[in-house]
Amino acid sequence: MIKAIVGANWGDEGKGKVTDVFAQSSDIVIRYQGGNNAGHTIINEYGKFALHMLPSGIFNPHTLNIIGPGVALNIHALMKEIKMVKERYPHPIKLLVSDRAQVVMSYHPLFDQLEEARMGHASFGSTKSGIAPFYSDKYAKLGFQVQELFHTPSCIQKLERVLPIKNALLKELYHHEALKIEDLLEEIESLKSAIAPYVADTFLILKDAMVEKKVILLEGQLGALRDPDYGIYPYSTSSSTLASYAPLGSGLMSHLDEVWAVTKAYSSAVGAGPFVAELFGEEAQTLRSRGGDAGEYGATTGRPRSVGWFDAVATRYGCAIQNATHVVLTNIDVLSYLDEIPIITHYELEDGSITPHFVATSVLWSAKPVIKKVPGWKVDITQVQRYHDLPQEAKNYVDTLEELIGVKIAMVSNGPRRDQILKRL
Ligand code: GDP
Repeated sequence: MIKAIVGANWGDEGKGKVTDVFAQSSDIVIRYQGGNNAGHTIINEYGKFALHMLPSGIFNPHTLNIIGPGVALNIHALMKEIKMVKERYPHPIKLLVSDRAQVVMSYHPLFDQLEEARMGHASFGSTKSGIAPFYSDKYAKLGFQVQELFHTPSCIQKLERVLPIKNALLKELYHHEALKIEDLLEEIESLKSAIAPYVADTFLILKDAMVEKKVILLEGQLGALRDPDYGIYPYSTSSSTLASYAPLGSGLMSHLDEVWAVTKAYSSAVGAGPFVAELFGEEAQTLRSRGGDAGEYGATTGRPRSVGWFDAVATRYGCAIQNATHVVLTNIDVLSYLDEIPIITHYELEDGSITPHFVATSVLWSAKPVIKKVPGWKVDITQVQRYHDLPQEAKNYVDTLEELIGVKIAMVSNGPRRDQILKRL
């Protein structure tokens, strides 16, 4: 059984929590794209963890966690995270890294920072973790696969190709000092020794796992609307976030049996780009301060998230482009303070037309939300343990969203903890 857990929106939908819950009944959890530029927050009996590189199945002693070939592997960030988890989590962790994953080099964040500084206000809101320079190098065939680190002559050869390009840019465009081959060879040595205990040909392991019919979870990072092809390009990330990419980025040659799209009961986004749902002033501040356990500040960046009401246009699209089979609706408890809950059902475009469709980035900038309101429930629902016991207004809210999205809402999350999940199958 192969399941993907993906974001239906702009990221930060609560995928980490959902993966942590699903991991309890999974044999393998795999991260398939992105790097340490986004975080998943997990709260369990060992405390609260912000994971950036580690798969979210790491807190289940029986679960094998894999970093797949599609990931931007920041080895130093991974080592720091492993240390942090080991200090607070008493069980051994089971982690393997694909020998085909590529490595974020120290010059990738450097180029990210220099470019964001050069762009100034016109920047794309990068987290400056080096993700865009990393994926550019990967597809320009200038990257380093993990297995390459173990062959010094090929590293030297590659660096001799990479350095003239990087140094020309550093000197001419950024007026920065040049990179030296000896420093980079030293860096490669340290990366190699740190990652060595975890490296494996994960393709072979997964091939066997499929024959044995193991339960495998593929964990998305960021959300559908940050996909470079289908999202709000260029305010997108640099690798595909979508469920269709999940098997490829995982190193698993298989179709998906189930695609679980995670969406919040309201909208939130960190980073630049058009965000039709955006609220301002006191309304935004109230929703943000009630929002999520983290108070709506990004797990990686600490940046305040932009917030708005549930955007059915964006979510319908985010589910459709991933062929979602199920939806998990998170953070519904956050809305318990409202008398009436606004829902965005359509967009009004600049020419006055009303559309149910998510439009291209250039058109989105001037789109306005069309809103309908439904009654709120105004009681604390964080202690509810069965879906059936939710107030009728909360169940009506879920029914309304399900109808608008067109995909079954199979679970509702009513708090950040592992046990705050209500099945609605
Ligand atoms: P991810 O990147 O999709 O995993 O999302 P994040 O971890 O960045 O953000 C989700 C935030 O919402 C985290 O602070 C979670 O602890 C929190 N969270 C997840 N589900 C719920 C929920 O149902 N209710 C509340 N109040 N918080 C939640």
